[in-house]
Amino acid sequence: MSTLPDPSAGAAVKAADRAHVFHSWSAQGLIDPPAVAGAEGAYFWDYDGNRYLDFSSQLVNTNIGHQHPKVVAAVQEQAGRLCTIAPGFAVDVRSEAARLVAGRTPGDLDKIFFTNGGAEAVENAVRMARLHTGRPKLLSAYRSYHGATAAAINLTGDPRRWPSDTASAGVVHFWGPYLYRSPFHATSEEEECARALAHLEDTIVFEGPQTIAAIILESVVGTAGILVPPAGYLAGVRELCDRHGIVFILDEVMAGFGRTGRWFAADHWGVTPDLLTFAKGVNSGYVPLGGVAISAEIAATFDRRPYPGGLTYSGHPLACASAVATIEAMAEEGIVEHAAHLGEHVLGPGLRALAERHPSVGEVRGMGVFWALELVKDRTTREPLVPYNAAGEAAAPMNAFAAACKKSGLWPFVNMNRTHVVPPCTLTEAEAREGLAILDEALTVADSHTV
Ligand code: PMP
Repeated sequence: MSTLPDPSAGAAVKAADRAHVFHSWSAQGLIDPPAVAGAEGAYFWDYDGNRYLDFSSQLVNTNIGHQHPKVVAAVQEQAGRLCTIAPGFAVDVRSEAARLVAGRTPGDLDKIFFTNGGAEAVENAVRMARLHTGRPKLLSAYRSYHGATAAAINLTGDPRRWPSDTASAGVVHFWGPYLYRSPFHATSEEEECARALAHLEDTIVFEGPQTIAAIILESVVGTAGILVPPAGYLAGVRELCDRHGIVFILDEVMAGFGRTGRWFAADHWGVTPDLLTFAKGVNSGYVPLGGVAISAEIAATFDRRPYPGGLTYSGHPLACASAVATIEAMAEEGIVEHAAHLGEHVLGPGLRALAERHPSVGEVRGMGVFWALELVKDRTTREPLVPYNAAGEAAAPMNAFAAACKKSGLWPFVNMNRTHVVPPCTLTEAEAREGLAILDEALTVADSHTV
């Protein structure tokens, strides 16, 4: 912390926020957003002198931590040179950002369409798939989150879809693999994988393959639970898509750019989709940016025929400058390798040790800096600590756990009956141990709600 924050300034920031800012996903009259005074690395702090170790990476996007000097300098330098330019021009910083992204995406995903975030990337990916195939339908998983714009929210599986579901977007949901609560009553990874693929193939056959433009999947399901697919699942989906002429879209908005300990989660299984959506970690959110990486075949569809889509700020110079600096810093500093190391040697073993001590931890799963603790009332029955989509009093045990984390200086990511452990990829081992110790203490609050 370079300067001591002034608590009275915090009160003024909060008052102005309540007067004029309309917040996402919230009942506006019931919220009290904390006022943030600054941030650095894995920490942010408020005006009252409270400092938090950020185990949420904000919305799982600050992969290189806050205020990385190289990225800050790149944005400042670009602002002095060229702040904005329409997408129709060729610009050095945009070309370089596209080259660096294309150089890391799997296979022949070598053309990059830039957006301002993840949902717009999903919107454009499904539009490309529909135009490429001439088919209307989209298949997505029940346990998924793909964004809050028109098509993206219809694709999303979690309850945030319900109030905005138009039921007319041609979306059909299916069950993905999730061994801990297997929709297929499987008892092993192999069985779960085989049954999930058979269920997906049945869905394709009964919907009519010739009506399905795309299957969209998060390579590792993020918001809906950090569900790492069993070995063979993504390759199986690839094979089904090839067999039925369906475009395979992998949504790497949350899992991409180092979070799983590889540049892209798909790299763990050697799978190349036809379209890959990204955002968040591409520049750690320093300036809004997302995009779609496009295969040679789909790019060729729009070689002589115009792509009917565009955004005023597609490939914005400040966003692209921050992406170039972020990707270069991640490569130079070995940040992706560090995330893999943290997962394998510090967070994974540390979280499993917590599960041994705390009866409320039903399952630990994840990789890299992408983990979930699934909290339960009863380990034997696996009854969740709070019911699905619980709110108010019903969500009290999870709220009490989150409050205990915050009181001890850790900002958690809590969703339903899970806490996701999703710190920056740059977290030091000492910071990881500090966070694990706070979780250890806070889990005693969750334990008090077990049977
Ligand atoms: N896809 C996935 C997998 C995501 O996790 C998110 C955001 N959490 C989105 C899409 C939407 O991204 P955005 O909020 O930038 O629109």
